Amino acid sequence: MADAYDVIVVGGGPAGYPAAIRAAQNGLAVACIDEWRNHDGSAAFGGTCLNAGCIPSKALLESTELYHRLREEFAVHGIRASGVALDLPVMQSRRASIVKKMTDGIAALFKAGGVTPLQGHGRLLPGRRVEFVAHDGTRRELTARHVVLASGSAPIELKVAPFDGKRIIDSWDALELGAVPKRLGVIGAGVIGLELGSVWRRLGSEVVVLEALPQFLATLDQQLAREALRQLTRQGLDIRLGAKVTGARVKDEGVEVSYTDAKGDQRITVDTLIVAVGRRPYTQDLLAPGAGVEVDARGFIPVDDHCRTGAEGIWAVGDCVRGPMLAHKGKEEGVMVADLIAGRYGEVNYRAIPSVIYTAPEIATVGATEEQVKASGRAYKVGLFPFLADGRARALEATAGFVKLIAAEDNDEILGVHIIGPLAGELIAEAVLALEYSASSEDLQRTMHAHPTLTEAVHEAALAADKRSIDSINRR
Ligand code: FAD
Ligand code: NAD
Repeated sequence: MADAYDVIVVGGGPAGYPAAIRAAQNGLAVACIDEWRNHDGSAAFGGTCLNAGCIPSKALLESTELYHRLREEFAVHGIRASGVALDLPVMQSRRASIVKKMTDGIAALFKAGGVTPLQGHGRLLPGRRVEFVAHDGTRRELTARHVVLASGSAPIELKVAPFDGKRIIDSWDALELGAVPKRLGVIGAGVIGLELGSVWRRLGSEVVVLEALPQFLATLDQQLAREALRQLTRQGLDIRLGAKVTGARVKDEGVEVSYTDAKGDQRITVDTLIVAVGRRPYTQDLLAPGAGVEVDARGFIPVDDHCRTGAEGIWAVGDCVRGPMLAHKGKEEGVMVADLIAGRYGEVNYRAIPSVIYTAPEIATVGATEEQVKASGRAYKVGLFPFLADGRARALEATAGFVKLIAAEDNDEILGVHIIGPLAGELIAEAVLALEYSASSEDLQRTMHAHPTLTEAVHEAALAADKRSIDSINRR
């Protein structure tokens, strides 16, 4: 095997593997180095997203939502079920088999596309050389015209609640629990805390979520955040805001978590504690001295808008660089870089990155929040449409939530769309396209939407921005 490549990608997660595939599609000789190992020791491509993030969490969210609906909601449809029981081992093996199929899929795509898969550790050396240490310990030096760093991120550990892998755990362990904890504590009411808190709540855990900030989902449009807090609290998530964790001690009877809030010192005891307070860029042993790339004060690899590091031929993409830590953001960066390397056009529109929280109801957003638009000083209008007035949502028995569309008063340009409701993560795609094309609310108003569908709620929210909604009272 030749050890000289056009492109070496270090990291085979959702930022790295698309970079490798696109570079190969562009006719370049490509290798992708990835060191991921699962809890059972097996190596797999796909990174955090496929092995321990997006995919397993969505598999469990789907299973647990079905379980919850069967027990709580089916009777409304006139369907009576008895003897409903949880089989957690089957639920977990379904999750594991989805992950395996997806990660095997990447290996198959590499094979079909002509990407050389290298499983082990990669380290950038001076002169665009890369040291590769295979999982079996063999060491080789490779060279490339271009190196793409896509080493991802890792969970942040709290000094006051260090992981022990059993009782105080990270999100990966929390996806693979073999029993439903009676009392579950979660530190951090962010995306992971709410998604995993929902999974285990639906299976019967008493869930307490401790959030340091006084505001819930502080970066979200606050009208959505208020609705989300109402819905999630109604489902039994005990979300405590302004709670600063001061310690966590593992005892025989459980994990004793101490925190302070507005009322003073507090203490709870839980069986399992998930720490989900964010992720940090992961660059351990990635950059040799003299390689020409150094991380910034927060640990990120500094890059420009096109993911160039500043060192000739070295690029970095995904969670290890600035911007939201989202799989699709990394994917678009990887593809952009592979196209730029091949001399083609490449661009990422950082103003149109969708973000989805897969709770029930789902929360999906793109563009500016009302708070951000207000702070910018630009005059704006808001269209709101509740799912209560949408026929398909009624049929689905999923009427909680609304679509909120914000458009500029001066030229009607859509500035942001925020959805809380059924399949919001699917509905947001239309809004992303609208932002991508700099659409106006009138463009959406004049676009026909099939009836009865949830997409009509997006259409009606656009109409509501001009107080012309047909199916709701134009209050705002
Ligand atoms: P990673 O996926 O972390 O991949 C990096 C890869 O590089 C890993 O395989 C790692 O082992 C490897 N690597 C690192 N250093 C080296 C080295 N020196 N040599 C060789 N290999 C190396 N995002 C979404 O968009 N949607 C979701 O629904 C979603 N759900 C999530 C749920 C959870 C529980 C978690 C934890 C995250 C979730 N995310 C989600 C975030 C998403 O997983 C990340 O944004 C995404 O995985 C980042 O992709 P990446 O390729 O940059 O890094
Ligand atoms: P996050 O940033 O979404 O949330 C972390 C929360 O923890 C914040 O609300 C923060 O205020 C709080 N916090 C921080 N320190 C704390 C402390 N000491 N005590 C109490 N609360 C504290 O991070 P996350 O939920 O860990 O997720 C990590 C990353 O993974 C995010 O960037 C997210 O984008 C990504 N992710 C995405 C999805 C998705 O797209 N559906 C799902 C899961 C994860």
